[in-house]
Amino acid sequence: MKKRIAVLPGDGIGKEVVKGAIEVLQAVGERFGHQFYFSYGKIGGTAIDAAGTPLPDETMELCKESDAVLLGAVGGPKWDQQPLHLRPERGLLKIRKELNLYANLRPTQYYSSLSDTSPLRKEVIEGVDMLMVRELTGGLYFGKPSERTQQNGEDAVVDTLFYQKEEMHRVIKLAFELARKRRGKVTSVDKANVLESSRMWREVAEDISNQYPDVVLEHMLVDNAAMQMIKNPKQFDVVVTENMFGDILSDEASVLTGSLGMLPSASISENGPYLYEPIHGSAPDIEGKNAANPIAMILSAAMMLRLSFGMEEEAEAIENAVNQVLDAGYRTRDIASFGKKQVSTSEMIEEVKATL
Ligand code: ATP
Ligand code: MG
Repeated sequence: MKKRIAVLPGDGIGKEVVKGAIEVLQAVGERFGHQFYFSYGKIGGTAIDAAGTPLPDETMELCKESDAVLLGAVGGPKWDQQPLHLRPERGLLKIRKELNLYANLRPTQYYSSLSDTSPLRKEVIEGVDMLMVRELTGGLYFGKPSERTQQNGEDAVVDTLFYQKEEMHRVIKLAFELARKRRGKVTSVDKANVLESSRMWREVAEDISNQYPDVVLEHMLVDNAAMQMIKNPKQFDVVVTENMFGDILSDEASVLTGSLGMLPSASISENGPYLYEPIHGSAPDIEGKNAANPIAMILSAAMMLRLSFGMEEEAEAIENAVNQVLDAGYRTRDIASFGKKQVSTSEMIEEVKATL
């Protein structure tokens, strides 16, 4: 197969880990006889410096004419003092909106070889296999108005939580489809005892559930979900929730089984290309030190092969290679532990390629 991939390294360690994904994809291409064409675009702080905007039109065009988008990370202290519309993170919000990436998928899986890097006991996390589905283009992060204001002469502020019913429908339906291919359980997370939006969310989930007799639907309040995820994470299969709850819970889920540097994500749209990125940020504290863990980015590339290109065997080849390298004891600094071989970013990339 021939595929065009837009590559947006972004800032900080984004550039370092993207290099790993590209090299691994090239190795997969050679082994399975595929041609991957990579075209590079700018996003985030790097784009602000070069073009005065965190998401240049050029980058958007490149993404729209590609079969999939690989993104590293954006942000860094250099741009922290900028006004909100000139922050690297704006580039991310904008690309999600423009590519209509309505759902973000984050798998969290137990790695037996990393059980010593989790803050939780092995009995609690052994066998965890959860897929978080977060609504990505609606809710509080996009609602208008979002501004400073005045009330009775006092400073005040308003943020708006807005959803169209259809926006809830498509993401919850996706969760049911995904659950059907997994263990057949959907946990829908909301705050229906307080929020009107959550009450509608629950109705929509119930409606969809009628069409999926093979999937069990469970509702959970978000505060309880935050606790259950630590207390008994094994109970979860697919978890679906709105934008802000999902932002918070998916970071929580990420620490269950190891480092931020291990976890990939996929963002899904209805029509255009999907976008794949590690869940971690640009990690300015380790930028340029050849210390970043490239595995989250490499596993994001594996998700791309599976979800965008239907290359199941190729995706598994990458995942197996990563597992073997971890089992063999290779560790970047973030997942280092006593008695293991500590390696740099580039050494880790080489190990994965060699194992492939
Ligand atoms: P963002 O706001 O973009 O989500 P953040 O401030 O939440 O960023 P990260 O950039 O993800 O944070 O970094 C959080 C911590 O995790 C840092 O100490 C960073 O060095 C570490 N970290 C993040 N990603 C990796 C990685 N791939 N390998 C090693 N360490 C990492
Ligand atoms: Mg973060």
